[in-house]
Amino acid sequence: MRVYPGDGVSDSLAKPDFDVVVIGGGAVGLSVGYHCSLKGYSTAVIERHEQFFEEASTHNSGVIHSGFNPTPGTLKAVLNAEGARMMYEKSEEWRFGTRRTGTIVAAVNRQERQRLLEIKNAGEKNGVTGLKLLTRRELKDIEPGIENATEALYSPDGGVVDITEYLARLKARAANEGAVLASGRGVVSIRGRELVELSLSDREKVTARHIVNSAGMHSDDIAALTGSSYRIYPCVGEYAFVEGEGSELVRGMVYPVVGCGSPGLGIHLTKTYDGLLQVGPTAVYGTGKDPVVWKRTGLEEFIAAIHSFLPSVEPSAVREGWYGVRAKTVPPGGKEGFGDFIIEWDRGGFPAIHLVGIESPGLTSSLAIGNYVARMIAERSGSNPAAL
Ligand SMILES: Cc1cc2nc3c(=O)[nH]c(=O)nc-3n(C[C@H](O)[C@H](O)[C@H](O)COP(=O)(O)OP(=O)(O)OC[C@H]3O[C@@H](n4cnc5c(N)ncnc54)[C@H](O)[C@@H]3O)c2cc1C
Repeated sequence: MRVYPGDGVSDSLAKPDFDVVVIGGGAVGLSVGYHCSLKGYSTAVIERHEQFFEEASTHNSGVIHSGFNPTPGTLKAVLNAEGARMMYEKSEEWRFGTRRTGTIVAAVNRQERQRLLEIKNAGEKNGVTGLKLLTRRELKDIEPGIENATEALYSPDGGVVDITEYLARLKARAANEGAVLASGRGVVSIRGRELVELSLSDREKVTARHIVNSAGMHSDDIAALTGSSYRIYPCVGEYAFVEGEGSELVRGMVYPVVGCGSPGLGIHLTKTYDGLLQVGPTAVYGTGKDPVVWKRTGLEEFIAAIHSFLPSVEPSAVREGWYGVRAKTVPPGGKEGFGDFIIEWDRGGFPAIHLVGIESPGLTSSLAIGNYVARMIAERSGSNPAAL
């Protein structure tokens, strides 16, 4: 059990009455904790694992999405574009690494051109600036190692983030603002209505005027404790890596057109902040949550995806990587690959905000989501912590 004190607490939650208790210590939960503390609410963030950030927040591609993928008009579209802006801004203020590499979506035939135009159009509606269609030759100037592409869409504001640094700064800022960060104990039951009582796995009890359910994969289980019904479908994304000379063939990020609209964005190539050439993620629905069970992807599938843009890479240079699990609200076989972020007050009147289906681009959007949730609470309490 660990407590990361924001207010001098050493070994337990000690002050068990909070304005806001956030359930889940991922990037989103910590961002909510930071923004609520910034507004003056006494806030605790509770994480079931010994360490924060052990789930999706550290098992992802580390891409700052500029915002052309979400469907225009959705909450995801707004929070993605806003989140990317905030991420670049805070990287200077808080001193964590980001690199604006630009994003390429590469077409391999004339039929894919129409889709590029649609993505560009959606991106412009979402307020993404600088989107440009590139000829094959212009693409070569930006990504000289890429073969087989006929034309491409370029978004200059796509980038990569040093995930470890970002999350460390976020946690420190939340603690500095006074948030109590408690790990190594999960929320097991929720009772009451005016003053909510949360029982934790170490038998401690905490009370809160409002709770924020930011439990990622388990957000539906936490919602069920308040009487609300959602369903999360775990969807695994596996990665591979290219070693040796081949890893120098990509400078930024290259996505295929075909992946757009599937449960993932298609197996793509990303030069990570650490300089690795990362391939993936796949998108395979699994069953169960702790642990998730799924059919593993063979290296051949990664090699085929690499060869569609980098035919010279030797199969022996491709290595298996790690995996992450998406908390999707779209079931297997669903028509749309992605659902919108669900961020809403409990429909049954319970003093809880549920964050459900916070899949990609949840890392990019995390700062904007935290700010949005803190504003929802402020609107309800008239910006006055004492009125909560
Ligand atoms: C393969 C993959 C690739 C991705 N790539 C990108 C990308 O490139 N760019 C991008 O922007 N986004 C990406 N994402 C999405 C991004 O990683 C997530 O949207 C984001 O990390 C979600 O953060 P979170 O805090 O909601 O969830 P999590 O990090 O999963 O945190 C939820 C936390 O809640 C805790 N919890 C659960 N139950 C309880 C309980 N009962 N009590 C206390 N705590 C509990 C969990 O232990 C966990 O730590 C990717 C995701 C995946 C899986």
